Amino acid sequence: MSEILDAIRARDPWEKEFYQAVKEVAESIRPVLKRHPHYLSAAVMERITEPERVVTFRVPWVDDQSRIRVNRGYAIEMNSAIGPYNGGLRLHPSVNQSILKFLAFEQVFKNALTTLPLGGGAAGCDFEPKGKSDDEVMRLCHSFMTEMYRHVGARTDIPGGDIGAGSREIGYLFGAYKKLTNQFSGALTGKGLQWGGSRFRPEAAGYGCVYFAAEMLATRGMAIEEQTCLVSGSGNVAQHTAEKLIQLGAKVVTLSDSSGYVFDPDGIDVEKLAFVKKLKNVRRGRIREYADKYPQAFFTPAAPALDHNPLWAHRADCVFPCATQNEIGEKDAYALINNSVKLVCEGANMPCSSEAIAVLLGKKILYAPGKAANAGGVAVSGLELVQNSMRLSWSGEEVDERLRIIIREIHRTCLEAAEEYGTPGNYLNGANIAGFVKVVNAMVDQGVV
Ligand code: NAP
Repeated sequence: MSEILDAIRARDPWEKEFYQAVKEVAESIRPVLKRHPHYLSAAVMERITEPERVVTFRVPWVDDQSRIRVNRGYAIEMNSAIGPYNGGLRLHPSVNQSILKFLAFEQVFKNALTTLPLGGGAAGCDFEPKGKSDDEVMRLCHSFMTEMYRHVGARTDIPGGDIGAGSREIGYLFGAYKKLTNQFSGALTGKGLQWGGSRFRPEAAGYGCVYFAAEMLATRGMAIEEQTCLVSGSGNVAQHTAEKLIQLGAKVVTLSDSSGYVFDPDGIDVEKLAFVKKLKNVRRGRIREYADKYPQAFFTPAAPALDHNPLWAHRADCVFPCATQNEIGEKDAYALINNSVKLVCEGANMPCSSEAIAVLLGKKILYAPGKAANAGGVAVSGLELVQNSMRLSWSGEEVDERLRIIIREIHRTCLEAAEEYGTPGNYLNGANIAGFVKVVNAMVDQGVV
């Protein structure tokens, strides 16, 4: 296995995030390869780490000052062994091939865990939506789709939302896709409710993350109610994680964005969260405005030069990183443990560094990787596709109930796989093993393609 990892690193040494994601899975699946050596002879690890297709393309657009801008777009089609590629579409200046390959790789395992027939992929563009007008965002999305539509399709590749791509962006992308293909189809998820979207799709990743946390706490005889919680981010996943936590009686004391974080010792309630939603989704403002509005809260600016994030130094029982990758490092993990944290449940993809995960697991903290904990997002994307093909729309209660069932099933699958391969209670190993086995069995069945 170390030879395979070395070869991956040597081939693309700059793809650090991708290598991190692969290494994490490789460590989990060692016992699987030992028990089933035919996977080694079928070279499944070499094949599952090589994308089926990578497309990069020019995304030219015209800004409000009539200047021509050029961004770079990507589509990573990672693995279609169990279904069409599906994954998030990210619009953020940090987007590059390594980040999208890590997201696509994680998505392969996540989608396998949901029990839905979806393969894994990711797409994106190194575009900064912050500070851009609606018209500029629309032009960027339309230009992006002018190339991307060749790869998208309900039976080939189905992108959904991710960082920087919420309902506004999915609307513009879908509009362009429909015009270019002359087809109204379920080729994107996260669509508006009036035009093919599913109830609870915006809420799904965050709500599902809290449902997953509740399942984990129950294994140790605890409940979410009255737990003090740290949530990072203030976008889609963070808002809905906080919302569900508040509904279930927990106390949420932090939210953040890339400019810093707010700590509210009184807790963020329904009214304060409504302010955040308006601030972020409508006015597209910065999180520090929360502290201007609610003076008992205080704002701490981001300090990238620090080797830790002071957000994670606040005392809490449960922690939900919902912003971005590698936002909890080793020092942060020690800070959480010193404050007696009970649970870390990843709303974002790969928000804990490998070192942080080792610290948390070493102390037997309940830890759930994003590929299991935030799978509610793709689960409801899958339900959106089912509704599209049946040409009907389920009620909110029905979708929420299905989401709860899927999350309960993923939780059970993780625990069973972890137990079967000798690491009971280790959700990281459980998620990686269960996802891996399902996908590589399909790959072996389909031969060398
Ligand atoms: P979003 O709505 O765009 O929100 C992202 C949040 O994270 C914003 O508050 C943003 O702050 C912050 N953020 C982004 N990059 C950051 C950075 N480098 N440093 C600090 N803060 C940063 O995105 P989202 O959909 O909530 O996605 C958040 C995470 O959840 C991502 O890891 C995504 O892959 C994962 N996820 C999303 C879904 C989904 O359905 N949307 C499903 C599963 C997992 P600024 O506004 O200042 O940039």
